[in-house]
Amino acid sequence: MSIDLHKWSPGRVVELHRWADALYSLRVEAEIEPFEAGQFGRLGLMLDGEFVSRPYSFVNAPEERPLDFYFIVIPDGRLSPKLAALRPGDTVWVARKPSGFFTLSQVPAGKFLWLLATGTALGPFLSILKTQTPWQRFLKIVLVHGVRTRSELAYQATIAGFRSVHLRQFRFFSSVTREPGGDFSVRIPQAIESGLLEELAGTALAPEDSQVMICGNPEMVKDTVALLQARGFKENLRKSPGQITTERYW
Ligand SMILES: Cc1cc2nc3c(=O)[nH]c(=O)nc-3n(C[C@H](O)[C@H](O)[C@H](O)COP(=O)(O)OP(=O)(O)OC[C@H]3O[C@@H](n4cnc5c(N)ncnc54)[C@H](O)[C@@H]3O)c2cc1C
Repeated sequence: MSIDLHKWSPGRVVELHRWADALYSLRVEAEIEPFEAGQFGRLGLMLDGEFVSRPYSFVNAPEERPLDFYFIVIPDGRLSPKLAALRPGDTVWVARKPSGFFTLSQVPAGKFLWLLATGTALGPFLSILKTQTPWQRFLKIVLVHGVRTRSELAYQATIAGFRSVHLRQFRFFSSVTREPGGDFSVRIPQAIESGLLEELAGTALAPEDSQVMICGNPEMVKDTVALLQARGFKENLRKSPGQITTERYW
């Protein structure tokens, strides 16, 4: 099988950084079309004569290089274990055309921006926060990262960088559910339901002035959307704007 060079760019692996057991960042130099922060690319490899590709969100800002992809190895997964076996200098195919609507240009105006992620879904939010747009558009930004163990709290230096530049505008909270050490230990939906997240953030989560972006584990996305809908939030659809913008990873 041959690879369509109009669609796929031969990327050169610059670095594979291991954060924890199965968590990696793959940094790649590749020629791709411009993208908007929050969008995703596709990575592909030729495996046993078959071309296998999957979507991965960009962690880097649009003008930043190398491209940065934060991923977890799925045991028995088709592609992700092979991505974790790449070494600097290896080739990984990158789709030339980025995709996706999980971007701030799809999010209506608001005062407060809540960014809720589990696991590797932190990635698109880091890309968004590396741009000027969210800081210009929102009075306050709350980023929440839900993980199981402290070792899964990746990109802490990047997050600390946002905090140091945007001290009054930015709050970050980690939810670590399987051991002590996070800002809280319950799942993100429970932290919203109990009022804990609003208390910590010092900001009310209300549809009148909040926009919420949610990305990651489909259970977390589903439960959080249901809770917010019960509070009067509406899903943000292309034809009918609302306050909840989501992306599911599987
Ligand atoms: C729009 C979009 C963006 C994505 N961005 C990322 C990203 O930035 N980082 C990333 O790691 N994955 C991301 N994914 C998931 C990714 O595309 C693959 O599904 C994942 O790497 C597994 O591929 P695989 O071939 O190894 O496993 P497969 O054999 O295809 O197995 C898929 C199964 O793996 C599980 N799974 C998939 N992704 C995850 C995940 N992130 N965390 C926990 N379990 C998972 C689910 O049970 C899913 O059914 C994204 C998916 C979508 C739709």
